[in-house]
Amino acid sequence: MMIIKTDEEVELIRKSSMLVSATLAEVAKNIKIGGNGLKLDRLAEEFIRDHGALPAFKGLYGCPSTLLISVNEAVVHGLPTAKEFTEGDILSIDTGAVLNGYYGDSAYTFCLGEINDKVRKLVEVTYKSLYLGIEKAIHGNRVGDISHAIQNYCEVENKFACVRELVGHGLGKSLHEDPQVPNYGKKGTGPKLEKNLVIAIEPMINMGKRGVFTASDKWTVVTQDRLPSVHFEHTVKVGMDQAEILTSFEPIEKEIKMNKDVVQIN
Ligand code: MG
Ligand code: MG
Repeated sequence: MMIIKTDEEVELIRKSSMLVSATLAEVAKNIKIGGNGLKLDRLAEEFIRDHGALPAFKGLYGCPSTLLISVNEAVVHGLPTAKEFTEGDILSIDTGAVLNGYYGDSAYTFCLGEINDKVRKLVEVTYKSLYLGIEKAIHGNRVGDISHAIQNYCEVENKFACVRELVGHGLGKSLHEDPQVPNYGKKGTGPKLEKNLVIAIEPMINMGKRGVFTASDKWTVVTQDRLPSVHFEHTVKVGMDQAEILTSFEPIEKEIKMNKDVVQIN
């Protein structure tokens, strides 16, 4: 069942979403070659708690961390570790927060130092596909319109592959609500979108084949062909004439510009 939000609820989700974006900006400031995920996870948790909120993922379904950090061939759900980040790594960092009972959810892929051209292209295409999907989050459209926009751009136009096993989702008082928002599908199919429905749109795009598996840590989702994967995510409100993005990459990209170890792609 889809839960359409009141304007007041949307404002609460916006506050949570802005905190999530501020958290990812704080992470962006502290990413460095030679650094590691455990340090970033600690500071993200502290940042969220200092703002009167709770990490959304920690404890949910048994998740042990505040951030999910998926490096290179990891697609999503990577657990932070002490392994050092190295030049050429791409880090897909996903986090959520719950503030005043409402969730926000966002992810950003960071590029460390010089990355190769094909990886750069994958990052650019995934980033753009997120916004192409968001353009379709309009009252009267269907979920499949979002899905199709992402799939068409990534697979048909750019020959990358959309992961099938993991999808975007509604959110509000729970992190995961209806509807599911796949990154593949047909125009004009699926649940009808209504004004004030809030959804997380999150393309997970593989450089090679679309297949994935869960690693032995029982969390990290990895590409079967071990080629890189990229993930970007916004929390979005469906609007009458246009969607409204409740999270923001602006504070994150401001930090990236000032961080010599992270390369701005978009
Ligand atoms: Mg997320
Ligand atoms: Mg999500």
